[in-house]
This record gives sequence, C-alpha cells and structure tokens, in this order.
Amino acid sequence: KSQHSTLSSSHVRVVLRVRPFLPSEIRRDGTKPVPCVSLIDQVGEEVTVHLKDQCTSRNECYKLDSFFGEEVTISQIFNKEVSSVIPGIFHGINATVFAYGATGSGKTYTMQGTEKEPGIIPLAMSAVLAMSRNTRCSVDISFYEVYMDRCYDLLESKAREIKALDDENGRVQLKGLSWVTVSSMDEFAEVFSTGIQRRKVAHTSLNDCSSRSHAVVSIEVRNDGINGKLNLIDLAGNEDNRRTCNEGIRLQESAKINQSLFALSNVIRALNHNEQRIPYRESKLTRILQDSLGRDSRALMIACLSPGPYQEAVHTVSLAARSRQI
Ligand code: ADP
Ligand code: MG
Repeated sequence: KSQHSTLSSSHVRVVLRVRPFLPSEIRRDGTKPVPCVSLIDQVGEEVTVHLKDQCTSRNECYKLDSFFGEEVTISQIFNKEVSSVIPGIFHGINATVFAYGATGSGKTYTMQGTEKEPGIIPLAMSAVLAMSRNTRCSVDISFYEVYMDRCYDLLESKAREIKALDDENGRVQLKGLSWVTVSSMDEFAEVFSTGIQRRKVAHTSLNDCSSRSHAVVSIEVRNDGINGKLNLIDLAGNEDNRRTCNEGIRLQESAKINQSLFALSNVIRALNHNEQRIPYRESKLTRILQDSLGRDSRALMIACLSPGPYQEAVHTVSLAARSRQI
C-alpha cells in the first residue's frame, strides 16, 4: 500500500471534517451533547474514526486519510490538503476538491467560508493569484451548477442552461460556458458573490433546492500554452431516502443526487484501486469532471459531518470510506 502525505497521482485522498455543535444544537442548560464521532487511531497516513450512537451504543469504525475535528480551521485544512496542488495547476496538472456530506453538515461553510473565515475557494483563489504574479499567466474562472443532470452558468445574467456536448474524443465539453478573467481578490469577490446571488435567485422560484445541486467553481490558469484547472465543488447534500419522506420532484431530485454521488464514489474507488476502466459515464457530474479526475490529476474529498445524528454520520462516512478503500 502506497502512502501519501499530500495529494498525489491517482490516489484520491478522502478526509473527514466535523463541524462544531451549533448554538441551536446545544442543550438548554448550556451543556453540549456528546459528538457521535471521534478519532481513535492514527497510524502513518491512515486514521480510524469511531462513530457511536449515544442512545443505543451502536457503533462502527471507518478508515480514512485524515480527520479534522471542530477546532481545526479552514486555513489549516487548506495548508495541509490543498495548497500543495496549486503549483501543479501552473504545469497543466488539473485538480479537484469536493465537499461532500448531508445538508447542514458544513459543505458550503468549508468551501465558501464566511467573512471572518474564508473558505477553500477564496483561499485557493488567493494562492493561485499570488503565484500567477510571478509567472505572468492569465487566471480565468467559471461558476456553474449541476441540477438534475443539467448545467447552469452562474456567471450569466440569467442562469442559463449550458449544453454538455461530447467532443470527438468522447469527452464532455461545456459549450458556451462563461469564463471571466480575474486579476485580484477584489475582482474575484465581486464575480463570486454575483454567482452566489444568482444561485439563490434561481432556486427561490424552484422550491429552494440550492442544497440539491452541485456548485462548481473552476479556476483555469493559462501559462504559455499550458492550461491547468482547479475545480472546487460544493456537492449536493446526500440524503438517505429510507429516512426522508421525499415524493414527487423531491424524490426525483434526490434519486439524481444519490446516483451522481454514487457514480462519483465509484470513480474515486476505481482510481484508488488502480483499475483499468474508470466509470466516468455513469453520471453527468463524473463526465464533466473527467479531465480533472484521473490518473494524471489530483483530487481530494472532504467529507463533512454534523456532530449529532448517528445514522447520518454512518451514511456519509461509509460512502467516503468506501471510495477511499485501498
Ligand atoms: P451545508 O452546505 O453542508 O448544507 P452549511 O455549510 O450551510 O451546510 O452549514 C450548516 C450550518 O452550520 C450553517 O449555519 C453554518 O454556518 C454552520 N457551520 C458549518 N460549519 C461550521 C464550522 N466549522 N464552524 C461554525 N459553524 C459552522
Ligand atoms: Mg450548502
């Protein structure tokens, strides 16, 4: 078994991040509930996490690449897991970071961040811009979402559907997707917040499903004819349909979401097993990401977890551990 301390070829790192209890989750008497997850072992580059149901004492263990407790900041996670891929982008090595987990587990918080604590997206953007200043290359971004297997451009004044077309190599191209050149964090912040706003507006008319679409920020670097891309993805919330009572459009949505998350897990698993055939074609999401999720690229999955609900934790962590398994 090979060991990696940073993102490396073909092996997709799968790490776990647990958010703190929110004020609304803290008991009336001010005491905190006991989290359902803890780190129990760390050997080399492998951690074992323990999930425990505080009511029934049911419990399970899973192995992952790293564990970040509630006290770990986004910038610590960025420095340990993401910053090392930035130089590669300038040499044409694509990379992808996913935030995966149930709705409310902290995916958007981790990727987007807040005013006080910038997320992975602004931190990555800032690192890319800093590096681009020494190399005189251009940095462009796109921002789109994938909802029910359709792609919508968020940098267009009307969230416009973009067609994903097969090119002659059987790869998917997003034809007509907007790319905006950014040269400073101020410019980026403006473009990014406009996209976030559009995402919200697009969804209020469509039974608020912003947590039911995958949001993709792509940062592309053009350096003397070499293109490299970093995709930063806030995945749709994974749902356990055995526990929710979805019907109608909601059920169709969550079927699509689960199908694409399962397809993603299969691709990551195939890469981690060094399999010949990587099943990109199982979903729109994996087809779109094909050029950034493979043996010649780098990838990281951040599984996000709420510290409370046990079943939800099992659902999230078991899929993460299954993707990682090497
Ligand atoms: P998701 O995008 O997975 O649905 P959010 O990122 O919206 O979840 O987080 C759910 C709630 O938890 C939000 O109110 C958010 O501010 C809060 N939250 C998430 N992660 C953290 C964290 N690390 N520290 C403090 N609050 C957090
Ligand atoms: Mg979210």
